[in-house]
Amino acid sequence: MTTAPTDTTASAAFEASLQQFVGLEIGVVAVAPDEVNVPMVRHWCEAMGDTNPVYLDASAAAASVHGGLVAPPTMLQAWVMRPFGQGRDESESNPYSQLTNAVESNGFTSVVATNCEQTYDRYLRPGDHLTMRTVIDSVSGEKTTGLGTGHFITTRQDYFDAAGERVGSMLFRILKFRPAPKPAPAAPKPLRPRPSLTFDHLFWFEGLKQGKLLIQRCAECGVLRHPAAPMCRECRSLAWDTIEAGGRGRIHSFVVVHYPQIPSIEYPNQVVLVDLDEGVRVVANTVDTNAEQLVIGAAVQLEVRMCDDDLSLPFFKVVQS
Ligand code: ZN
Repeated sequence: MTTAPTDTTASAAFEASLQQFVGLEIGVVAVAPDEVNVPMVRHWCEAMGDTNPVYLDASAAAASVHGGLVAPPTMLQAWVMRPFGQGRDESESNPYSQLTNAVESNGFTSVVATNCEQTYDRYLRPGDHLTMRTVIDSVSGEKTTGLGTGHFITTRQDYFDAAGERVGSMLFRILKFRPAPKPAPAAPKPLRPRPSLTFDHLFWFEGLKQGKLLIQRCAECGVLRHPAAPMCRECRSLAWDTIEAGGRGRIHSFVVVHYPQIPSIEYPNQVVLVDLDEGVRVVANTVDTNAEQLVIGAAVQLEVRMCDDDLSLPFFKVVQS
């Protein structure tokens, strides 16, 4: 019985094909532009805050186990490093380009550097002149990480002195991975419930949009009323105008709502019934007020806040009376 090629066998063939790149040399031999030298060591030590005297104090270094000045081992890469992009071989014949193209054409298009590991064979001294060769050290099988599924590609840079002796080595590892599908955009924050506006109280919400808490006043007898209503309860006049509330008042009562929860409102939802100094009562939420401050009789200050483009509402903050 024969079986048709499956994704599994195709994947195994792809994985095997990646291994042909292991051990291949990348690009040309890099030659350090300068010998290991004290001025560069000085800049490095100053930048790193490294005060070890074996790097810059010739007499202390002579008296040390090194018998003379040495360079900080962690400068290994600095001696050969060229400006970004310079000297990079991105031709199609470069094995690293071929390897990168192979993994990218299989969907592993994202990249992240994961770790770098240096090995020092000996201390470098002023006058050492380095060269560097880079090889593809390893390509991992398919791995699933927190970032996604992909292949770790490790390159190895070997550093040599003028006599051809290896002085150090650096493993540099990247993960080429399949980018996770983009998450659906977050749902927009639901809006607070809209008031059902009528001609009778439209003025009140329009006033809030301008930062004003308006109180309806009977144009005949001057009695204030809230909530808004078309007729004066005292003299039955239909004529009215408004005054702007000063914004000070006291908590007449309050309630902290936990359930049921409306998505646009934060919980616990503190609702206060406020006796305004003008003599009417208003229901509103609090701002910048914690549960301990919610006390009947506490002084409050109005803050008109914009909830969204279409809705501004009054809020109250407990203040010192
Ligand atoms: Zn009236």
